[in-house]
Amino acid sequence: MLLYFVYFNVFRSDDVINSPYNRRQDTFAERVVRGSILSSDGEVLAETQVAEDGSETRVYPYGEMFAHVVGYESEGKSGIESLANFSLLSSHAFFTEKVANELREEKNIGDNVYTTLNVSLQATAYEALGSHSGAVVALEPSTGRILALVSNPGFDPNTLSEDWETLISSVDGELLNRATQGQYPPGSVFKIVTALEYYRENGSFDGFSYDCGGSVTHDGYTISCYNGSAHGHEDFRTAFAKSCNAAFASLGLTLDRASFARTCGELLFNEELPVSLPYNKSSFALDDSTEDTVAMMTAMGQGETTVSPMHMAMITSAVANGGVLMNPYLIERVESYTGARVESYSASAYGKLMTAQEAEALTGLMEAVVQEGTGRALGGASYTVAGKTGTAEFSSDKSKSHAWFTGFSNVESPDLVVTVIVEEAGSGSEYAVPIAKKLFDAYYSL
Ligand SMILES: [Zn+2]
Repeated sequence: MLLYFVYFNVFRSDDVINSPYNRRQDTFAERVVRGSILSSDGEVLAETQVAEDGSETRVYPYGEMFAHVVGYESEGKSGIESLANFSLLSSHAFFTEKVANELREEKNIGDNVYTTLNVSLQATAYEALGSHSGAVVALEPSTGRILALVSNPGFDPNTLSEDWETLISSVDGELLNRATQGQYPPGSVFKIVTALEYYRENGSFDGFSYDCGGSVTHDGYTISCYNGSAHGHEDFRTAFAKSCNAAFASLGLTLDRASFARTCGELLFNEELPVSLPYNKSSFALDDSTEDTVAMMTAMGQGETTVSPMHMAMITSAVANGGVLMNPYLIERVESYTGARVESYSASAYGKLMTAQEAEALTGLMEAVVQEGTGRALGGASYTVAGKTGTAEFSSDKSKSHAWFTGFSNVESPDLVVTVIVEEAGSGSEYAVPIAKKLFDAYYSL
């Protein structure tokens, strides 16, 4: 219910769709043939084909696969079509050619926009999600380059105008970019954040121990471990690796709520994100008036907290990158249609979300998940992975859950962050981990 409510509001409030700024730029379209959008290795993701009679058709060769990130340019604009609208409608063709075109009253050819997107990784993510609703984000933690960004269900940008009325009245939210606009309960991927707060308050994970009998009861409210398993005696590493709810709910009662809220603010909950696509803010609410049972739920990623897959990828990226979050970006460079460089973009740091020492401590926990915990299916590959699974309950009877995974590969010198959510699928280790593994496998076979 929450999810659909969010779709509705997002869609209604999406100011990008009718941005007057975009409408003003569109008058250039009378003089310029809109440029192409390409992947980082030069595959065409969107191009304008001009027929002999001069009529133009915007063509998206990959159809649904890149729909949300590349976007569309009819019925308003979205994705990179909106972000790069100005460049696509500018022409840096040779001056003499432009003069000649103007004399002949012919259009100039717009600039091409090269993105950071990788076709092979995008295809892997799209196929791995299959018929499931959900999202996948893959980015380079050291630069912020977004290599893949998939949201399901999608739409075919080639037939957008024909499908528009159906799409805007659909309850499935095909037009919503779940990767950036979807707000989900984080479930156990949030234990990364709870662990950081514990580390900040205690200076180390060393003093922690817990005996798990499969559940914990406080004020008459019982929180159970997944499938009711009793995890036995645990230190912090084991509790994190096995994703023990009883241990985290119990330690949630000991955390300073104001300090926890401050840490979440530093990780950009309730804050603006450095994301160029339309997104929704993640939310975290905890203070002295919060009931104990809610504090317990919050520490294990349930309760009132919501997060987008992109935001979770950014937190993971900061852990992978020694605490420093790089601004995620999608546009690498702009070239004239003859290949002359017009503009280049490069990596930039947003700032430090945590200290290098904190990032290292969290990395150790996330390695344990793969070595001995819920992410074991990612072990034994030619690359190493550190990550966290999540199984986020979202219905009041706890019968439905979203499957999460967030993590990064090549732990010593991180290459790739992958964040996956599969809606209403089941457990993270069963449904999200295999998708992440396909992404890592594809990355290392590029
Ligand atoms: Zn447990």
